[in-house]
Amino acid sequence: MGNKYLVLLLCAICIFGCKNDEKQVVEDLVEVIEEPEEILEFGFNLENYIVKRDTIRKGDSFGEILERNNVGYPKIFNIAEKAKDTFDIRRGLQIGKPYTLLCSKDSLELAKCFIYQPNLEEYVVINFHDSIHAYTSRKPITFVEKTATGVINSNISETLEEQGLSPRLAYKMADDIYAWTIDFRRLQKGDRFKVIYTDKYIDDTIYTGVHDVKAAYFEHNKEPFYAFRFLTDSSKGIVDYFNEEAKNLRRAFLKAPVKFSRISSRYNLKRRIAVYGFKLRPHRGTDFAASIGTPIMATANGTVTKSERRGGNGNYVKIRHNATYETQYLHMSRRLVKVGQFVKQGDIIGKVGMTGNTGGPHVCYRFWKNGKEVDPFKQKLPEAKPISDSLKIEYLKFIEPVKTQLDNIHFLEDVFEDQNQPEHTIKQNDNLISLNN
Ligand SMILES: [Zn+2]
Repeated sequence: MGNKYLVLLLCAICIFGCKNDEKQVVEDLVEVIEEPEEILEFGFNLENYIVKRDTIRKGDSFGEILERNNVGYPKIFNIAEKAKDTFDIRRGLQIGKPYTLLCSKDSLELAKCFIYQPNLEEYVVINFHDSIHAYTSRKPITFVEKTATGVINSNISETLEEQGLSPRLAYKMADDIYAWTIDFRRLQKGDRFKVIYTDKYIDDTIYTGVHDVKAAYFEHNKEPFYAFRFLTDSSKGIVDYFNEEAKNLRRAFLKAPVKFSRISSRYNLKRRIAVYGFKLRPHRGTDFAASIGTPIMATANGTVTKSERRGGNGNYVKIRHNATYETQYLHMSRRLVKVGQFVKQGDIIGKVGMTGNTGGPHVCYRFWKNGKEVDPFKQKLPEAKPISDSLKIEYLKFIEPVKTQLDNIHFLEDVFEDQNQPEHTIKQNDNLISLNN
């Protein structure tokens, strides 16, 4: 902008000097001033203001920031009052988050508008230009659909890294999609996959990573496993992955309520403990040792029926999953759910602790079937909720083009065999699929 201005000004001086045509010069300059390049951000033309950008620092308050920018106290109080339904200025500002002040383009540099960004996507506008109004808005988000393929040499992370693909794709496939079908710690050399996924961008420029996997194909020990993402309950936002025959890829229950833990004590009705004089002390749960603060996950979808602190259980949560199954999680340091709350499989419901009767930090996981505590490892656990008959028709119709798309993605090695196709056709294929705000 500055350069452009300078160039035009130099032109003008040149014309002025060379031709002495004063009228021409004035017109040129007026043209430049009247049509400034618009810089739109947060819905404002930044050219109209002195723009001050900073981050919230320790000790900063909304009042102090405004005061530093020449807004007086009665007005600050008014602004805070009027804005409070949209945004709690007193409690909402977090250290390190960016904010922007739009100030008057004069010697006063009076603040006219305060824009705060609690995260990359959202921004809060408190405009006090004349009347005071406040609102929250979102930056436009773009999803870009991409495809990738890979052949396993030793492990999935390495294969993804070689191609410059996000490790999040590995987590998605290993933990979300195929956690119950394929053991990713035991992949075979030559196992291979194709995946259709979306990358997320904010404002078209900020890459925020892999957003979702739309469909995947994994060949493990020469056996194909298809997975298609499908929204089964829009009101609860439940998304599941099903195979080409509409079978749910998930089991109803996770194997453990904590990640990366070891079982320190199994369900054992004949347990005897030395400190109790080797008396029979049945253990009706499975203990997973983990450090204090480790997140505890609901092992299945359900509704919280208990969340309290009581006796030997300490802080515990109990969840009813259906008419048959309930699960219970003991000795938490913190409970993060309330009675009546609906939780999804994998949701964090509390943190590992050592409240109640316990010798060390762990979660005692109790698995109830028809009102009795049983050993979950001896149960033939049910498949996750199957697709309903009415949805099944919709699902099969939905996946038809996706499956075709997946089948038409070729593996690099196959392309080499079929010399007709140049190498680049199998590289990542970017497709702009949706824009929203
Ligand atoms: Zn236990």
